[in-house]
Amino acid sequence: MGRGQKTKKAMIRSVFDFIGVPVLLLLFILFFIAESKYQLRKRVQARFKRIVINFIVSIPAFTLLRFLFLPIMVWLAFKNETIQFGANYIYSLTLWMEGLIAFLILDYGNYLWHILNHKLPFLWRFHLVHHTDHDLDITTAFRFHFGELIGSVFFRGAITFLSGASPVTVLIYEIFFEAATQFHHSNWKLPFTFEKMLNKLIVTPRMHGIHHSVIRAETDSNFSVIFSFWDRIHKTINLNKRQQQVVIGVPSYDDQKELTIGFLLKLPFTSIRPWKKYTSDINTNDNELKY
Ligand SMILES: [Zn+2]
Repeated sequence: MGRGQKTKKAMIRSVFDFIGVPVLLLLFILFFIAESKYQLRKRVQARFKRIVINFIVSIPAFTLLRFLFLPIMVWLAFKNETIQFGANYIYSLTLWMEGLIAFLILDYGNYLWHILNHKLPFLWRFHLVHHTDHDLDITTAFRFHFGELIGSVFFRGAITFLSGASPVTVLIYEIFFEAATQFHHSNWKLPFTFEKMLNKLIVTPRMHGIHHSVIRAETDSNFSVIFSFWDRIHKTINLNKRQQQVVIGVPSYDDQKELTIGFLLKLPFTSIRPWKKYTSDINTNDNELKY
């Protein structure tokens, strides 16, 4: 094992395993309690069954994240340091400023990656697994098919390389990325005015709830992961919807009984059903204040 290999492993352990994982676990407990106490959208499925399904589906994806995705990203960042390549090597700023710029580039890359997951049929096969959940809560943040993670290595790897992010920035970004994913998938009803304010900067549960809607035009909005301004800049933002009117899921996969662990893991390799038009009996023409 070379020296670089050792440093890489030690860095992932000290930043991600010893700081990131405990922080993320703590946040998980916090969001879980918060969404249980202050529920935003009404649940349509049995909670325990979903917890089991979403966690089991997440095991291969999380294993790959820790042992394939992270080592590759950190390796790319170390490579950048050696060959002095990437955006951060063009200018000479303070460490904090360079870190912040790299962080923004990585987050913008994820906004684009998320759009590709919806627009390219091959990527949608995998991302669809995440969207078939009929409820949206913190456990949905884990429901990702491992194929999506493998695909992300190439795109997110390229962004990491081009950003010139340092190895520490790459790891810090990943911790924030996971924390943000847990937060905006949670079914936590935050005070309305507070959420509205918070949403000016980051993606919040109400905003991301609309992205998981059965209505195609709504799913095709709100792609940001951490910062919400990517959606504002590109006019892909959609906040004009009351949460009790949001029906979660993909209409072509509306049979809850069908969505077993085995079905979800096999889903990307089957013939994908086209998006069925959703017809609702909910009256949307009320004058209540919208978000
Ligand atoms: Zn999506």
